Amino acid sequence: MKKAIGIFILFFLLQASLHAQQYNDFFLDKACRVDFHLCGNAQQTSVFLDNIKLEPFWGGRHAHLSKDLNLGDYRFRVLDSLSSQQIYCDGFSALYREWQSTPEASITSKSFEQTIQFPFPKKAITLIIEKRIDLDNWSELFRYKLSPTDKLIQRTNPTAFPVKIITKTVSSDKAIDIAVIAEGYSAKEQKKFYRDAQRLAENLLTHEPFTKYRSRINIYAVAARSVDSGISLSKDSTWKNTSAGSHFYTFYEPRYLTTTNVFKVRDLAALVPYDAIYVLANTSTYGGGGIYNNYALTAADNNLVTQVTVHEFGHSFAGLADEYFHDKQDALDAMYDIKKEPWEPNITSLVQFERKWKAQLQEGIAVPTPVTEENKTKIGVFEGGGYLAKGMYRPMFDCRMRTNKAPEFCTICQQAVERMILFLTE
Ligand SMILES: [Zn+2]
Repeated sequence: MKKAIGIFILFFLLQASLHAQQYNDFFLDKACRVDFHLCGNAQQTSVFLDNIKLEPFWGGRHAHLSKDLNLGDYRFRVLDSLSSQQIYCDGFSALYREWQSTPEASITSKSFEQTIQFPFPKKAITLIIEKRIDLDNWSELFRYKLSPTDKLIQRTNPTAFPVKIITKTVSSDKAIDIAVIAEGYSAKEQKKFYRDAQRLAENLLTHEPFTKYRSRINIYAVAARSVDSGISLSKDSTWKNTSAGSHFYTFYEPRYLTTTNVFKVRDLAALVPYDAIYVLANTSTYGGGGIYNNYALTAADNNLVTQVTVHEFGHSFAGLADEYFHDKQDALDAMYDIKKEPWEPNITSLVQFERKWKAQLQEGIAVPTPVTEENKTKIGVFEGGGYLAKGMYRPMFDCRMRTNKAPEFCTICQQAVERMILFLTE
């Protein structure tokens, strides 16, 4: 037995040193941040480069560098220029893509800020940004040769704001590091922000699988100061001068809270190592938003704050889809094409259901699954999800991604979150 444990430990040590070697072959322990604009309209998308920066911390993964979990409407790939070997890859989503599904995108063109981050390369690389066509196919939007010695890569330090560690149990390379950014807190409200950030951490950790993996989660509070207290277009519908410039009424949806100032948010997050960004909005108005591998936003003071905090992080951290749908029109009800399989792990159009949770269905369960008392606790194929009442299906009757009444994530969502935690920390 002892010998078996010894071999086991040896295997892990070898594995860890192999990962470190691969990382160190290509990357420094700093981040390369690429700011660009996603531009276009309902029919077309272009990428325009803005700026490239060297940032002081790399908080992302140190292993599985060249593959990803096939999530997001976009992905980027980093190739070693000399060998063309893929040395890093990651998926992401964008507010731009959601806007493309709104009526405005049929009559006008717009540009949206977007940022990606990868470990800072030691040698010349080629960066490729791609747009998803379907589950397995991508179309190239942008290609750029980047030399790490380029003089014009910005090396300025981010503007300093006080940072408080809310919880830190493990070094950043083995952790999910979450940067919580103060939004709409004036200079006098720093203590309130720290209390709110503490509550956000506690709320997140009430849900599985975050509870199970709490020893792998580090949370930092970045006390950015806003000129005004509060958030734009909340209950009193005024505009405020805030650190991240967020607002309600995104796409005219009253409770949809987002920011288009992605570069500002990234400037603030750069003060800590991070895998994920949580913008904490100083308001009691109900609302939030979450975009995969981009950011989550929630109101700090609403009585549904626990539910919203976890729901939005489900989007931004694990790429989970909304499982809700309405009979009335929703701002995003043109987001999904039911003739294609969506990439999100927790909804299916049944076009490629075998790529989702089909293998986990109990024998004999009806597809679609009727809503009966008995079926409510089972994994099934329940019609309605992704803002659509018809043609899109969710895995369980209720889930944190569907209602505020649900006590937790459904089994399939929990599995998706766990997969991401393991991917980033092992
Ligand atoms: Zn779910």
